[in-house]
Amino acid sequence: ASVQGDPFMQALDAVCARLVAAEDELTVLDQRVGDGDLGQSLARGAQAVQAARATLPAAPADALRELSAIVRRVVGGTSGPLYAAMLMRAAAALETSAAADAQAWAQALEAAIAGVAEVGGAAPGERTMLDALVPALTALQTALTTGDDALRALDAAAAAAADGARASAQLMPRRGRSSYLGARALGHPDPGAHAVALWLAAIRDAFAS
Ligand code: ADP
Ligand code: MG
Ligand code: MG
Repeated sequence: ASVQGDPFMQALDAVCARLVAAEDELTVLDQRVGDGDLGQSLARGAQAVQAARATLPAAPADALRELSAIVRRVVGGTSGPLYAAMLMRAAAALETSAAADAQAWAQALEAAIAGVAEVGGAAPGERTMLDALVPALTALQTALTTGDDALRALDAAAAAAADGARASAQLMPRRGRSSYLGARALGHPDPGAHAVALWLAAIRDAFAS
């Protein structure tokens, strides 16, 4: 991991930059199986976070709370409330951890995912962002349990998210707009799952550099 600067802010910067850069890619994916707004929604959220960057609280838990408020305000669609819930749950989990180590972040991700499942009512296998998030969490936890360092664990998580996003193309859509398409969605990856793979890869890259 980088020793220069604040790793949380570096990861956040990387996520925002990646989501802004991926706007067109996510638009195309959401045009195929949804209404095409995902790229713009996430890019707008990322830009709002970039604009607020200098005034974010220093403690990651406090910053995550503020990020949740920003996302709730500026990100529309299904993604807005789900990401707002994720960030809020991650903040709450992080606050209860004794140390802000990899284990604490894994617990924060677990809590965040539980928030998505609760708010969105989806289960893994229904072709949503959970189909990237849940494999990523499992890979992260497995890597940390077997003694991998944070970077290797993040590597495994990002790879699992990418695999999950790819595999979502073969899942029958059960939630959200793509469920209206039924079998016509098959062969196209879930845009929300792909977005998860993108921001997890950005976090991994931030720590690898
Ligand atoms: P909308 O259909 O409202 O435009 P977005 O474009 O913001 O939604 O986000 C679409 C993504 O949201 C989907 O690709 C999927 O990953 C995710 N999604 C949809 N419904 C749910 C749900 N119930 N639970 C979790 N994720 C969901
Ligand atoms: Mg959409
Ligand atoms: Mg929409």
